[in-house]
Amino acid sequence: MRANDLKDALMNWTVLNSGHQNREYIGLSGIGDCEMLIYDRVRRPEKPSVDEHLKFKVGYEFEALVIERLKALKVYQAGEVISLADGLVQGHTDGRIGGDILEIKSVPAGRFLPVEGKLPHRVFWQVQAYLHYLERQWCQVLYIARDTGAICTVGIRYREEIGQEIEARVARVVAAVLNYERPACSCGHHLETPQADWATTIQRR
Ligand SMILES: [Zn+2]
Repeated sequence: MRANDLKDALMNWTVLNSGHQNREYIGLSGIGDCEMLIYDRVRRPEKPSVDEHLKFKVGYEFEALVIERLKALKVYQAGEVISLADGLVQGHTDGRIGGDILEIKSVPAGRFLPVEGKLPHRVFWQVQAYLHYLERQWCQVLYIARDTGAICTVGIRYREEIGQEIEARVARVVAAVLNYERPACSCGHHLETPQADWATTIQRR
C-alpha cells in the first residue's frame, strides 16, 4: 500500500466511524450554547468537516482510554441516557462513579485544563443539566490533556436555580424546534447585521 493510499484509507474510515453524525435531537451537552445555535443544529444542520470528524474521533478515543483505566480501578459504572420531549432532547452521560455522574473531557494540551476548579460555561451547564434531570447532587468532571497526559478532576454540585433555568431553556428551544421558529441569538455573539438595502444603492442611469 502506498503511503498516500494508507492515509486516505485511514481518513475515510475515520470519517465514516467518527460517531460525529448530525443529530436530530437537542443535545444536553450543548444546552448552555446560544439558543439560536441549538435550534440551527437541529433544523439547519451543517455537515461536519473532515477536520471536525478527526477531532471528534480522537477526543472520543481518549475518553474511552480513561474509561479503561477507571474500569481497571473498579470504580466505573456505565453511563445513563436522558430523554425528554419524546426523545427530542437527549443527554448521554459518560459514566457513574458511585452515586456521582461522570463526565470525561479530553483537551488538546495541558494549558486547557481547568484552573482552580473553574469549568468552561458550556461544560458547567452540561453537567448541571445532567444533575438536574438525573436528580443527583454531584458530578465528577475528569479532564485529561492529550499532550502531557495530565489529569484533573473537578467536583460539581447541583445548583437548583441553574436546574430551573435549564428547564425553562429546554422548554423554549423545544417549542422553537417544534414550531420551526428560529429563536433570536441569546448569547449576543450572533446578532445579525441588517442586510444592506441594495435597491437604494443601485444608481439608475
Ligand atoms: Zn448567539
